[in-house]
Amino acid sequence: MADIVLDKVSKKFPDGTVAVADIDLEIADGEFVILVGPSGCGKSTTLNMIAGLEDISSGELRIDGQRVNDKAPRDRDIAMVFQSYALYPNMTVRENMAFPLRLAKLDKQTIDQKVQEAAKALELTALLDRKPANLSGGQRQRVAMGRAIVRQPKAFLMDEPLSNLDAKLRVQMRTVVSRLQKKLATTTVYVTHDQTEAMTLGDRVVIMRGGAIQQVGPPQELYDHPRNLFVAGFIGSPSMNFLHAAVEDGRLRTALGDLPIGDRVRRELEGGNAPRELILGIRPEHFEDAELVDDDTRRRGMEFEAPVDIVESMGSDKYVYFTVEGERASAAELEELAADSGADFAGAGSSLVTRLSAESTVAEGENRRVWFNLEKIHLFDPTNGRNLT
Ligand code: ATP
Repeated sequence: MADIVLDKVSKKFPDGTVAVADIDLEIADGEFVILVGPSGCGKSTTLNMIAGLEDISSGELRIDGQRVNDKAPRDRDIAMVFQSYALYPNMTVRENMAFPLRLAKLDKQTIDQKVQEAAKALELTALLDRKPANLSGGQRQRVAMGRAIVRQPKAFLMDEPLSNLDAKLRVQMRTVVSRLQKKLATTTVYVTHDQTEAMTLGDRVVIMRGGAIQQVGPPQELYDHPRNLFVAGFIGSPSMNFLHAAVEDGRLRTALGDLPIGDRVRRELEGGNAPRELILGIRPEHFEDAELVDDDTRRRGMEFEAPVDIVESMGSDKYVYFTVEGERASAAELEELAADSGADFAGAGSSLVTRLSAESTVAEGENRRVWFNLEKIHLFDPTNGRNLT
């Protein structure tokens, strides 16, 4: 096992593309870290540099305290799992899993024992004598993982290992990966563009954009305290709503009504560190049908009334889209974000997305009073995206 440290690591390709720019990241021994971000943000390049499949242009990579920039991949004692399983079709599951151990010239008894152990951990024991062609996609991916874990490497690197599986299988495999990582307690770096995978799997999540790290933290922290607009829009589904908020007469004027300004934002404004036009962010789950809110809860928020556009019943709750008067923060500010965030800003400029209780009797076409939680709002500086709350 090992810790992995990236110290000002950059990757510049020969054509001049800077895929990764000056990344600092410390991954603790045994930790499960997820690299997530939109397509092209540099996740795979980062992983490939750790694996030794890409040269590092500048900076230092240390595994277990040792500089490994110039070490060949096979000397780094790291196992990779890719989205394509790359199993040997002519070999059985047992032979596929034994392959790296045979290469390492272990004796037959040790190989048998290690394969049995890995098969047990991945619930593959009954399938050991099958060929890959006679396995399901999820089973094949488990064999690929088995082949990685038999070697007991210092670390696992996984690049979108579940993305070839259908949605249901992906959810099942998430728990397999999660359980396995906890059991083995081996340092793991996992790349995905799927924010649900990122939020559910890792101890810590690294959010990347344009070759740079935007924020690193435990999933809940990223959700509760996104450092900027990009992270706020990327984490959470449906995405956070963004609206214009103008500072006027000591209040915030928004399409949902005039909001009080919290102490922290007030200090930023008074110190001249924030503009007077801000962006208000509210997650869909922080709204509720005003009829369903008790008095205690009511005091922690505000209400507005708006026409109901669309109601989507999800069973456990309802996604309700409201048309709000005035402008939602959209076009100009969000265009750039929407282009490369992977977050869904499709509704920007038209409707407000809320997640209300299933008991709500809300109906399309009516006007409805809606409550939202003032303790959960975010305010962003549109000039640099910084979260001021
Ligand atoms: P995806 O989720 O689409 O796989 P990613 O976040 O893994 O994306 P990378 O594959 O790391 O992104 O690519 C980062 C950037 O580097 C992209 O702009 C990509 O076009 C560029 N890039 C990758 N490989 C090369 C290469 N061999 N030469 C030039 N540019 C490259």
